[in-house]
This record gives sequence, C-alpha cells and structure tokens, in this order.
Amino acid sequence: MIDPSYTPAEAAGIWVFLEHDRGQLAAVSLEMLAKARELASQSGAPLAGLLIGHKVDAIAAEASQLDLDRLVVVSHALLDVFTAEAYAYAAREVVLGQHPDILLLGATPYGRDLAGRLGVTLRTGLTADCTDLSLDPANGLLLGEVSGFGGGVLATIACANHRPQMATVRPGVFARTETRRASPAPIEVIPIDIPASARPVIVVAHDRQEKADISKAGRLVVAGAGARGQLPLIEALAGALHAEIGATRVAVDEGWAERERQVGQTGVITRPKLAIVCGASGATQFTVGIDQADMVIALNSDPEAPIFEQADLCVVDDLTEVVRALVAEFEAHGEGV
Ligand SMILES: Cc1cc2nc3c(=O)[nH]c(=O)nc-3n(C[C@H](O)[C@H](O)[C@H](O)COP(=O)(O)OP(=O)(O)OC[C@H]3O[C@@H](n4cnc5c(N)ncnc54)[C@H](O)[C@@H]3O)c2cc1C
Repeated sequence: MIDPSYTPAEAAGIWVFLEHDRGQLAAVSLEMLAKARELASQSGAPLAGLLIGHKVDAIAAEASQLDLDRLVVVSHALLDVFTAEAYAYAAREVVLGQHPDILLLGATPYGRDLAGRLGVTLRTGLTADCTDLSLDPANGLLLGEVSGFGGGVLATIACANHRPQMATVRPGVFARTETRRASPAPIEVIPIDIPASARPVIVVAHDRQEKADISKAGRLVVAGAGARGQLPLIEALAGALHAEIGATRVAVDEGWAERERQVGQTGVITRPKLAIVCGASGATQFTVGIDQADMVIALNSDPEAPIFEQADLCVVDDLTEVVRALVAEFEAHGEGV
C-alpha cells in the first residue's frame, strides 16, 4: 500500500540511482548527475545520490565527493550482488520513507530491470530511454523526451499525478560531470530490514565476460552494410588509429559485428572525437548514436547517401580502396599524417 501522503505536493528533491560494479561507480550515473544538477539548479530542489549495496563504504566515500547535496545509502547483506527483486525492495522502502520528487536511473541492464520493477511497485510512471530531460517551465514537471515508432516520432512525456517521477537514460546521452565538492556531502545510512523472501534468486556464481564499451571511445571506425566482407580492413584502420570498432544494426544482425558494438537508437550512444563511418547509409536510428561526435568522416559510394548530411568530411568512393589507402598511409607515416 502506497503511503497516501506521498502526493505531488509532498514530494521533494531529485535523486539519482548510483549504479556500481566491482567498486566502481557507473559512468552513466555521473552523466545523470550532471543533468540532474542542471535540473536541480533550475528548480532549487536538493540533489541526492542513492547508493544501494553491501559494504559500500569506499564507494560511498567516493560518491560523497560528487556534485550532490546528500548521499542516501542503503546497505544490507542481501544487497551484496544486484538482484532486481532485492534492490527494488530496498529502493521502494527508502523512496516511500523519503519521498523524492524525481528518481533517475541509467538505462543499463541493471537500471532497466530495477526501474521497471520499482515503477510498478510504487505505482508510478516511468519514462524509459529518454534522449533528453527538462523541467516544464509552467509547472516544474519532469519532461522526458523519447523517440518512438523507429525514430519517426519524438514524444515528450510527463508524469503529473504519481510520485516519484521516474526516468531512465542510456549511457552516453549526457556528458559526465567532473565537478567535485570541496568537502564531502553528508552521508545518510538508512537502516533497512530485508526479508529473505525479497531475494528469491540465489546467486551461486558471478561469471562475467568482458565486453567492448564503445560509449567511451575517443575514436570510432564504424562498419556499415557496405563494409560487408571487409571487416579485416576495418579492423586494420581501427588498429592504425587506436580506435574502437562500431557497427550498424545490419552488420550486427548479419552476425559479423558484436551486438555491444552497435551504434544508434537500439545500440550505444557514442561521443567520440572522431568517427569514421564506412558504408552506412545514415538512417536516423543509426545517426542518433554519433550525433555528438566532434567530427564525422563518411565513406560511401552513393553521393546521395543521407549520411553525408551528418558528416563533416564526405568521401564518395568505394570504401575498400579508400580504407586500404588510409591504412597504408597510417602504417607508413603514423597517425599524424
Ligand atoms: C526501431 C528501430 C531501431 C533501430 N536501431 C538501429 C540502431 O541502433 N543502429 C543502427 O545502425 N540501425 C538501427 N536500425 C536500422 C536502421 O533503420 C537502418 O536499417 C540501418 O542503420 C542501416 O544500416 P547500414 O547503413 O549499415 O545499411 P544500409 O542502409 O544498407 O546502407 C549501406 C550503405 O553502404 C553503401 N555502400 C555499399 N557498398 C559500398 C562500398 N563498397 N563502398 C562505400 N559505400 C558502400 C551504400 O551506398 C549504402 O549507403 C533501427 C531500425 C528500427 C526500425
């Protein structure tokens, strides 16, 4: 049963769920904090970080240096590894006790799992995968911008009658904050009792495979369908430039590029200094993933390809010849050519 006093008028403060893994705060949490600080400055609301886990003192100490006004910590032995059930139980308890107005989470596998479960148990709305967040100047409501129908529609969603207003944002959408506090933010540890039934999952082992993370790449060489059969050449170019490899969905669906390398709406939002896009037509679902690159160089044999509208430098040619020539140049003279 939801506390009836948790009304829009009662709710206060902006909270960011601080995701962490192996003692490291997730980059997306720092990105969300930067945006949340912008919103908090506009509304005058306090900004809090929500840290959930077990034996998280070191992360809490690090998080308390971040640009937030207070840090709320929930620690319990049943929260030692992420399980959506136990984390949602803990988050629900603390949210109902503290009444944040807004709760933001990263649209990561953990964040998505937690946000959906929490939204349902709190009986509030969740705007998932926002591409931007703002406050309605008329009433201060959180506005989440999301694209729908394959990117053909941009919708702005608000949650007027239920609290907290919840939203998830994917990694890379916002720039992370480097702002640090002069002195640590107050840390508030909320005691919580979690029944064993709140964690029906028994974690017997944590087997993890390291996967590429192109969201942080400074340089990206992207393989589109036009690079089919030319992956070794794309790899050679990426190697010469110390760049990561990205791919369009066609390349991923065809199975010659890994899923975590997909750039775009249903892939990763990147913000490299340089993106060399080889043989991609430039569908909007793809280009949203490189919108924030400092420089885009596009190689495409079709002079009418939409990718050229996005590119800073356009090369109309067969990518095989161009990439081969580039690799030869870089190998002969280094990447400073
Ligand atoms: C809901 C939804 C979500 C989606 N999410 C994503 C997403 O996250 N990421 C994504 O990438 N796509 C996404 N898509 C798919 C997207 O709409 C496009 O279909 C896809 O991006 C096209 O990939 P492509 O540019 O590699 O292939 P194509 O559109 O087939 O383009 C290939 C290009 O290569 C050029 N070319 C061919 N041969 C050569 C050559 N030898 N030299 C130079 N150029 C050559 C061609 O001129 C052409 O322009 C999504 C679609 C939907 C509906």
